[in-house]
Amino acid sequence: MKTSQKLIALGILVVALAGLRVYFLRQSISAAPARVEPGATMPHMDHSPRHGGLVLMRGDTHFEVVLNPDGRCQVYFTDATRADLPASFASEVDIGLATLDGERQNVPLQVDPDGKMWTGRLKMTNDRQAIVRVTYVGRGEQPYWIDVPRSAWPH
Ligand SMILES: [Zn+2]
Repeated sequence: MKTSQKLIALGILVVALAGLRVYFLRQSISAAPARVEPGATMPHMDHSPRHGGLVLMRGDTHFEVVLNPDGRCQVYFTDATRADLPASFASEVDIGLATLDGERQNVPLQVDPDGKMWTGRLKMTNDRQAIVRVTYVGRGEQPYWIDVPRSAWPH
């Protein structure tokens, strides 16, 4: 694992405890101004969930991770201005779940029939301290993963 990935994962864990909204606010303030097309929405001004999940970002890619109480999970990719990206933007999307008592799951997701999102099913835990690992390979990018506490999700 690269040191930068470790730092990002650690940073996310720490700020998740302090509140992800604060983190995203700081990120958008400290980000260098990007070139904006006339009429385009400002990049990174919108981090609100569209599907009841948690919005994460890597560079100019956003991905909303939805964890349903019944275990169904979805990942939706959007660009810097939160315009939808097709599911084919990514490959090898999977979600892992590790609880404190040592139970581990790893579920490879599949593209849904209309190609808008990745979907799969976990055995959901009520353990709010469990760690969720989201992994994907973006088009033309190196594989990426991030660990987020289960408690960062709204439900
Ligand atoms: Zn953003």
